Amino acid sequence: MQTHTFQSVEPREAALAFLAGRHDLLIGGEFVAGAGRRIIVENPATAVQIADVGAASLDQLDAAVSAARAAANGAWGRMSGRDRGVILARFADLLEANLDLVAEIMTLDNGSPLSSSRMVVKYLAVELFRYYAGWATKISGDSFAPTIGARPGQDFLVATIREPIGVVGAIVPWNAPPGMMAMKMAPALAAGCTMVMKTAELAPLTGEIFGRLWGEAGGTAGAFNLVHGFGEDIGGAMAGHAGIDKIAFTGSTAVGRKIVEAATGNLKRVTLELGGKSPVVIFPDADMAAAIPAAAMACFLSTGQQCMAGSRLFVHADVHDQVAEGVARFAASLKIGDGLQPDTVLGPAISARQKARIEAYAAIAKAEGAVPLLETPAIDSPGHFIGPSIFTGVTPDMRIAQEEVFGPVLSILHFDDEDELIAAINGTPYGLSGSVWTSHIQTALRVAKRIDSGQVGINIHGAMSPETPFGGNRQSGWGRELGREGLDAYLKTKAISFAIGVKP
Ligand code: NAD
Repeated sequence: MQTHTFQSVEPREAALAFLAGRHDLLIGGEFVAGAGRRIIVENPATAVQIADVGAASLDQLDAAVSAARAAANGAWGRMSGRDRGVILARFADLLEANLDLVAEIMTLDNGSPLSSSRMVVKYLAVELFRYYAGWATKISGDSFAPTIGARPGQDFLVATIREPIGVVGAIVPWNAPPGMMAMKMAPALAAGCTMVMKTAELAPLTGEIFGRLWGEAGGTAGAFNLVHGFGEDIGGAMAGHAGIDKIAFTGSTAVGRKIVEAATGNLKRVTLELGGKSPVVIFPDADMAAAIPAAAMACFLSTGQQCMAGSRLFVHADVHDQVAEGVARFAASLKIGDGLQPDTVLGPAISARQKARIEAYAAIAKAEGAVPLLETPAIDSPGHFIGPSIFTGVTPDMRIAQEEVFGPVLSILHFDDEDELIAAINGTPYGLSGSVWTSHIQTALRVAKRIDSGQVGINIHGAMSPETPFGGNRQSGWGRELGREGLDAYLKTKAISFAIGVKP
């Protein structure tokens, strides 16, 4: 069993200086103090307050939306794709130059191990801005001659052009803010949209660095606006705002549903990246040396606080005990601690509330008859640390196999019949991700195709890249982010018909 150290680590000078500064909103290119409720930000590893952030008032939200509209109708809307791409590429470079600071602030804000925070900033933010900077010069429509509609002697040509949707309201969660923001900001701005970004009230601080770098990159004032705020008031007001043309949301399924309801007023477009209950499937012919640690990390990475968490492990009956014991042994060895400690693998839960929610699920699992295989004793620390727990004997109908925990709780289920396996996998409201572990390519492909989710890995879990569309099926979301589809989500098509040679 691994020993854990819960000593907190003093942030470096640059991070301390950042925390000691003002934490403002960015509206129309100006930093202004939020006039709404106070957001007290704590470090989840210590439960100590690290910042006091002013949320936007409703008037300030209106001002941010007006600034975005003015930029859409003005300088940003008129700018060439080439020039937008140059600014986005410069933003990527600046973000990369500030990677240490952004990653450290992410860790202080939400508790992620520093190594994970660095990966998020580099691969889900810097590289995304670079990728979409390239797309800004490659937005194009189509042209064709329709087969009906032209009169005799007349030529008829249709050209489609792709136009930005307009003003985007982006609402992001706390679990990986730089990545969640970049997944919306980079394609929206590349498409020529302007935006108001709302940070998550539990981890708002990295958003502010994005705001500062936007100005440094030469970004047009008002094209990117940043507001802090609580979900129910500022988030809800954004979803219902008549001046916003589209909401791009990442968060829970319950809130996604509220956003859809609030968006009906002006029938704004909505894309949703929501929760998941993703399966990891291990067949007897899998490479166990790779599959066992990967199955553990699929669930426990980010202390289970990630949307793609492989929280249901389906193991073939022939290898059930070997896999279950291997996963438990690996999970017990994971070092829990302050994310700033270099060897930490599992940081704390985001809040005392989230920790209590996770603990409640472990109790529910036991009450439902699941068998505890690994339980981590309560951790004596002011931080919100919680270790992994693993249950065997889980059946598909149990709450622990149906509901998203968003914490380090793994349910192990066994199978021997493929049809029953697929029915169990697809028998939750979610369809976000999943992985299949086997050395038989036909099995891999057959099962991957039958899993109803936005992405499936074969001998890998949770792979992402800027080029690869990402999103969920059913109650895991609407639409896709990343790749070309991620850009399309910010464009609308106009068909222009040319009648050539019409006689009056
Ligand atoms: P959450 O839904 O509670 O909050 C997300 C955001 O929505 C926050 O900014 C919050 O302020 C805002 N919000 C809350 N209530 C609102 C309302 N009524 N109207 C408008 N906005 C509102 O989610 P969370 O706890 O921050 O994040 C965890 C959830 O996010 C999990 O369910 C997880 O699966 C999901 N998630 C999904 C993805 C994905 O890409 N599919 C990625 C990360 C997280």
